[in-house]
Amino acid sequence: MSLRVGVLGAAGAMGRHVTDALGPDDRLQAAVVRGGAALEGAPVPGHDVRYQGLEVGVFGSCDVVIDFSLPEGLAQALPLLGTVPLVTGTTGLTAAHQALLQAHAQRAPVLQAANFSVGITLLVDLVRRAAAAMADADVEIVELHHRRKRDAPSGTALALAEAVSAVRPTNHTIHGRDGAVGPREPSEVGVHAVRGGDVVGDHTVWLLADGERVALQHIASGRQTFALGALRAARWLVDQGPGSYTMHEVVGLGDTA
Ligand code: NAD
Repeated sequence: MSLRVGVLGAAGAMGRHVTDALGPDDRLQAAVVRGGAALEGAPVPGHDVRYQGLEVGVFGSCDVVIDFSLPEGLAQALPLLGTVPLVTGTTGLTAAHQALLQAHAQRAPVLQAANFSVGITLLVDLVRRAAAAMADADVEIVELHHRRKRDAPSGTALALAEAVSAVRPTNHTIHGRDGAVGPREPSEVGVHAVRGGDVVGDHTVWLLADGERVALQHIASGRQTFALGALRAARWLVDQGPGSYTMHEVVGLGDTA
């Protein structure tokens, strides 16, 4: 299916991956950058459109908009979207941003994900099932990311911890251990962030039982996986009615997020 795609944050690292990942029958309809950005007016490599700022009507002829910008960029764009379906991967959204997204979901289909990797979507599902099946196992989550990452732990690690809490409601997360912390409580879910090098993103969930342990691991070897997942989501989303959707539904795992 060919898509006319608008990209918000088109000149950013992820935005460039999205424009590069468009299929041969797709059309980059709008490549939107921050108003006044140096690239505004410059041609988008490989496409016959130019980078443009946010303005009324910019998304008018798009089948779908894919957003990898910043929270304020998304907030500025939402009133300009009309009824255009939205796929958004921007992280760090506040409750106010979420309310704006919910309002858009009244008018159009919206898919928001902290991680568009199909493998991570599957991992969240596997972790939920493993934490239920190995109910007595201690769960520890370890994530690795490149040295430039600003937030810790990753949003994905938190989503994995939530998958555990979904089947073990009394659990609580702890971040790192230092000093005389005493024996581990059964209700703890350890979430530990490692930073360095150019690691795109590794997540390992340990289930540590007496006599055995299971490690469920996902390794992202390139950021294009997020762009490909966002495009897969976009193709699925354009056939949906107004509402909020998840990658679990896109991948066919049901609404289990
Ligand atoms: P980046 O800083 O390289 O790109 C962000 C771009 O958004 C910049 O080019 C910036 O100029 C642009 N922008 C900011 N305000 C804007 C506005 N008002 N209008 C238009 N454009 C605006 O960052 P990135 O690494 O590409 O990541 C972008 C976002 O996507 C971050 O929130 C990041 O955490 C998230 N992300 C999500 C996933 C996922 O799978 N969901 C994967 C990677 C990154």
